[in-house]
Order: sequence, then structure tokens, then C-alpha cells
Amino acid sequence: MQLIKTKDKLEGSLKGLEIIKEDIQAGKVNTLGLATGSTPETFYAELIKSDVDTSKITTVNLDEYVGLAADDLNSYHYYMNELLFSKKTFKESFLPNGMAEDADTECAHYETILSKHPVDIQILGIGTNGHIGFNEPGTAFDSLTHKVLLTESTREANKRYFEREEDVPTHAYSMGIKSIMNAKKIILFAFGKSKAEAIKETINGTIDVNCPASILQNHPDVTIIVDEEAGSLL
Ligand code: PGA
Repeated sequence: MQLIKTKDKLEGSLKGLEIIKEDIQAGKVNTLGLATGSTPETFYAELIKSDVDTSKITTVNLDEYVGLAADDLNSYHYYMNELLFSKKTFKESFLPNGMAEDADTECAHYETILSKHPVDIQILGIGTNGHIGFNEPGTAFDSLTHKVLLTESTREANKRYFEREEDVPTHAYSMGIKSIMNAKKIILFAFGKSKAEAIKETINGTIDVNCPASILQNHPDVTIIVDEEAGSLL
């Protein structure tokens, strides 16, 4: 694991962009794995401003809420269109379909997409409980794309985006931990004080399902980029 300590979110996002730009320019990136949430927003804004050519790159996203359509303001389809895809050209982009009729079929379908488009670089955020994607504590390390029951802490953290608390979906489709670990390279961003404990556990804790991100210690190419606050307990 490589740890990069930066001053703030902007410096951290630019550092991540620099790493990705180098790999893209070296022709090493066919597929980029993307994340949602507040963490990658600055990274996407800087990617849009940059001269990095992403037109030949396929993207795959980590997750999507079950029950939200692509045009729902709170869906991750909508988030990605608003923040990135409407402003930067990619070859093609995939997210799980929150409106799929059958969960098992959708999960298997998404794994087929991932096997056709193996991820060269996966962008990750981290939950305050150490989750990656929507893989909550207790998720098996060998999990593939699956339907997840969101924990109260995750629903609580995400309710800021919704008008009413009861509108926060209870389930999501998420790449599994094994699907994430299949990426050749992983860049995890963590910004803010609320992430400090999870980052400490991820880097210095024992590898344990109670902190899903701790499995990253076993990955051969992980870079963790923190700001001062997220790195304050290291
Ligand atoms: P956040 O979420 O970027 O909104 O903090 C990250 C996550 O839960 O993975």
C-alpha cells in the first residue's frame, strides 16, 4: 500500500489525477472504475478541466441504488451524468441498473460486463465504517456483484442528498469486494475528519471483514490519498 498525504481535497484529487494521467498516456487504461459520493467530486471536476483524453476509455461504476431510475435525481446514473459524462467523453459507461426486474440476473449481468472490461484503475472512496462500494462491514471478501441491504450508518450518511429520510433507498447493487480487488490498480481517496478512523483501520488494522477496506492490504497496487484530516490518526 502506498500512502500519499496531501493538504486538502484539491491537492489530493490533483495527485490522483496525475497518477491516472500517466497511466492513460502510457496506454495502460482501457477501463476506469468510478465511484460516487462527495469524495470524487473534485477529482471529476479536475479531470474535466484537464487535457486527458478519455474518449477511448470505458467506465464501470461501483454501485447503484435499487429502485431508482437513471433519471432520478438521487440515482448514481444521474450523479455520473451531471458530474462527468455530460462534460467529458468516454467510449462507453456502465452502472448497475437500479430498475432491473430480477436482482440475481442483474448482478450476474454486471459481472459479465466486468469480465469483458477488466478494470485497470479503480477509484474508491471509503465509508466512515470502512465500506468500499456498498460493501458494508461483514461482507465476504470473496463477494461478487450483489444486492446489499444498506446499514443505518450508510443511510444516515447519505440522507443529506434526499428530501426526506424515508426516501433513502434500503438496498443497492454493488460490485463485491472480490470484484473490486480484481482491478489492476486501486486509488482510494479519503478526505475529512470523519474518515480518519476508517483510514487508520484500513492501513494499520488487522485484515478483517468488520473493516471491508482492510482487505486492500492484500492488493498489489493500492494508493491511498488522504488530506490532513483523514490522515490525522496515522
Ligand atoms: P462520501 O462517501 O464520498 O460521500 O464520503 C464515500 C463512501 O461512502 O464510499
